[in-house]
Amino acid sequence: MQISDGVVASFHYILTNDKGEILDSSEGEDPLSYIHGAGMIIPGLEMELVGKSTGDKFRVSIPPEGAYGNRDERLIQTISREEFPPGQELEQGMQFQAKSEDGLQLITILEVNGEDITIDTNHPLAGEQLTFDIEILKVREATKEEMSHGHVHGSEDHP
Ligand code: ZN
Repeated sequence: MQISDGVVASFHYILTNDKGEILDSSEGEDPLSYIHGAGMIIPGLEMELVGKSTGDKFRVSIPPEGAYGNRDERLIQTISREEFPPGQELEQGMQFQAKSEDGLQLITILEVNGEDITIDTNHPLAGEQLTFDIEILKVREATKEEMSHGHVHGSEDHP
């Protein structure tokens, strides 16, 4: 069976950046399972997986446009320390998760200058070309229930 819309595919992956550094990997963990066509993984990778089947091993490089987008300098802003919870320690390089209109957003502190805090809300992988080494382990039809829930059901308890 080949990967197409409405199937559940499970794969192992090793994700590296342009410098060959490993950013993430499913090694030693459960493979990643997703419903194809549901927008659960980055679009560039989803496109490359079309037509692949169990046992396929391959490497793909996804440009930023198909991954987390290009860096946007407008997402670097200086805000006041008062915007953070009182007593919050603030140091260069710290990262926070914050709720925004588009869901969870990662905020990185670039600089602390007295009351002025310079933050970057670009995705940490924005602007990166991402290379995936993929091994497809399983491809099966998604169940009706999975399609209506919009997520994969595993052997464990329902989340
Ligand atoms: Zn469910």
